[in-house]
Amino acid sequence: MSNIYDVIIVGAGPSGIGVASLLQQMNSTSYLVLEKEEIGASFLRWPKEMKCITPSFPAQGFGQTDLNAVVPKTSPAYTLDMEHPTGEAYAQYLDVVAKHFSIPIKNGVQVNRINKQASIFSIETSDGLYQSRYVVWAAGQYQYPNLTPFPGANLGLHNSLIAAWRELDGDNFIIIGGYESGMDAAYQLGTLGKKTTVIAKTNTWEVEHSDPSIALSPYTYNRVRHLFDSDLLTIVGNTAVTQIEANGKGYDVHTDDGEVYFTEERPILATGFAGSTTIIENLVARGQYQEVLVNDIDESVATDGLFLAGPELRHDDHIFCYIYKFRQRFAVIAEALGSRLHLDVSILEEYKRENFYLKDLSMCGEMCQC
Ligand SMILES: Cc1cc2nc3c(=O)[nH]c(=O)nc-3n(C[C@H](O)[C@H](O)[C@H](O)COP(=O)(O)OP(=O)(O)OC[C@H]3O[C@@H](n4cnc5c(N)ncnc54)[C@H](O)[C@@H]3O)c2cc1C
Repeated sequence: MSNIYDVIIVGAGPSGIGVASLLQQMNSTSYLVLEKEEIGASFLRWPKEMKCITPSFPAQGFGQTDLNAVVPKTSPAYTLDMEHPTGEAYAQYLDVVAKHFSIPIKNGVQVNRINKQASIFSIETSDGLYQSRYVVWAAGQYQYPNLTPFPGANLGLHNSLIAAWRELDGDNFIIIGGYESGMDAAYQLGTLGKKTTVIAKTNTWEVEHSDPSIALSPYTYNRVRHLFDSDLLTIVGNTAVTQIEANGKGYDVHTDDGEVYFTEERPILATGFAGSTTIIENLVARGQYQEVLVNDIDESVATDGLFLAGPELRHDDHIFCYIYKFRQRFAVIAEALGSRLHLDVSILEEYKRENFYLKDLSMCGEMCQC
């Protein structure tokens, strides 16, 4: 393939679509989004019952953008008529945005490896070799679960692999992990009248912190709190699972306090994600939290020209795992690309006005705890 694109974006989720819509508005004519499935594929894999934790509200007419929007002046609440969009609905919103901006996307193209030589990225895909001067890695986390958090974890069932909670056979489950996914699983199964035992390393529902990347969100806490006093939910808090073992009739779940919990059903792993950047390990360096080390414009410190967009982005204590957080860095990346590729960056003024541009991270200090 002889065409060398200015920019290739990997992934057509909120990050890929968000960055691509900026490049389009900057009149770039040489960029392409490569997507292994289709727009919003991760959201299409969410369990049918799952909804966005962060609320959507059409406040854009008053200069406040919907928390789940990826482009200023758009609103999933307005497009979908939903306050907490399902995965399927949110994928529809992304599709509407992509069509509105006529973003060039190649669906069904999986990126397997990227190398850089003489300032050109060679991108090996299921559709052959692509080349570009810059790469924006926006392949997310959801499709890359951590399946080996402790010995025997492969005997469990990762929550990201569950298509619908109502299709799960069994009446009594052990859920490992007590953050959003784990407590959502407890809520969904409790609603179906099924019993759960949640084994949680950290009691996120008791953590006093203003950042929902650390404490359980009010949305999830309010849904699940009535189960705390019922016989449908047993909490084993501040306890880490150390191993799962098969035992003739089911599974023994061992914890760090020496207890063993038995379950007939496969234990549900709500233990997080390894993340897609494992595919580009050769192009990144990692820090103390295993985060990809980036400079102040989200470019890999190990590889010039490779930018990271999405929930794997982390700057010290700033965790960008929600859309309303990482979307504020799309314009930072676009500004860098615009200046290197001599694009029209005037659209960035609108992004700044609409609170879609957070360059100085000292601005995102912690809220007062009142
Ligand atoms: C249980 C749960 C609930 C959540 N709820 C919320 C919420 O309420 N609000 C919120 O803001 N965030 C929420 N999040 C987080 C949010 O879903 C993610 O941060 C978001 O999906 C990240 O967007 P992304 O575009 O970076 O990645 P993704 O949405 O995962 O998109 C990545 C895209 O890249 C494609 N891709 C992957 N690998 C390749 C490859 N090798 N080659 C080509 N294409 C590839 C995928 O098919 C996919 O379409 C939630 C996450 C979870 C797990």
